Amino acid sequence: MTSFVEKFKIPYNESVEWDRTVGKPEIERLGLCGNTNTTKKSTVKGTNKFTWQARLDKLEESGQLSTSDRDFLEELESKGFQDKVCILPKGHKGKCSHKPYLPKVTKEIRAKKGEKKSALQKIIEGLVYKICDPENNPGGDPLPLQNRGGSRNNLTMIDKETEKTIRALAKKKRKTKYYKNLAIRLSMGASNTMISLAILDMLALVYHVKGAKEIFETYSEITPEYVKILKQRWKELKNSNLFADRPLVIFDENDNLQSPISNKTIELEQFGKGHTDLQGIQFGHIQPISEDKWMTRPSNVMPLPRHCNLKQSNSSLNDVPIEQLNDALKTVRRLKEHGALTNEYKSIMKQFKDLSD
Ligand SMILES: [Zn+2]
Repeated sequence: MTSFVEKFKIPYNESVEWDRTVGKPEIERLGLCGNTNTTKKSTVKGTNKFTWQARLDKLEESGQLSTSDRDFLEELESKGFQDKVCILPKGHKGKCSHKPYLPKVTKEIRAKKGEKKSALQKIIEGLVYKICDPENNPGGDPLPLQNRGGSRNNLTMIDKETEKTIRALAKKKRKTKYYKNLAIRLSMGASNTMISLAILDMLALVYHVKGAKEIFETYSEITPEYVKILKQRWKELKNSNLFADRPLVIFDENDNLQSPISNKTIELEQFGKGHTDLQGIQFGHIQPISEDKWMTRPSNVMPLPRHCNLKQSNSSLNDVPIEQLNDALKTVRRLKEHGALTNEYKSIMKQFKDLSD
């Protein structure tokens, strides 16, 4: 049986090459600071042991981690795999930050007496949550092992089969709690450079949501030079050539972010409802995530309404418009076969014909 570390090495090796050829040059090109280790690593409560060490201990105890595999992972840690990268402009003042310029809930917009949260507070929290999405492995699964707050460049990423094995073991030994927050799913991983540039992209995209600029601009730390970087990235992300041979249009007539699937402008009110509302904004990928190639990286992240994310399912976002057109074509063909093609359909078909000339 292949160890989970061997499987981890497949996307990891690709990420090393990507960091070298794409990630690091991008940080340089965009004029970002790029310093690493911007935050302190967490420790196990009441001890000096790092959380990642405790996780390795548990994996070793479960019989899934050999000594040589552990050595490999510990070496990655010492090389800075789990570090955070600063994405402030090069030569910035003050502390380094890997999640800069998140809009803040200030006194003025806080909930009034009697209300739990003000509407604006909810929107801002939704924006913050979305921007932070490239950093965190999503939760929502009540089963053990899932780490709601674990970062994507977690040292312990396990494939589906290993997860199943440990889950069964936890059940047998009645140790569900012991194995909780042990690892993230391998498909959810990323390198630290991938995450930082993905956060920058999310920031650039969310900044261009209709009405969001005003919220960001109330935040005094948002400097003109940072806005310049965000606008540059937005311009680059709008270039549909970026999405290979099947372009996506991510902006509306007023240069605001839109869903490239529904072609509707994304509204502030849609943020913070990703799990409860079909219009709620979720974290989407252009190319779907896989266990072989981590997809949380720049030019591949996209805030998407839930109904569009569901439509995408496991396909590439680039394929969805083609699928939608093929579905429509089939509908028309079936209606025609049954003599039910009304003038309304015919008029739409004519518009297609005019457009395709
Ligand atoms: Zn810095």
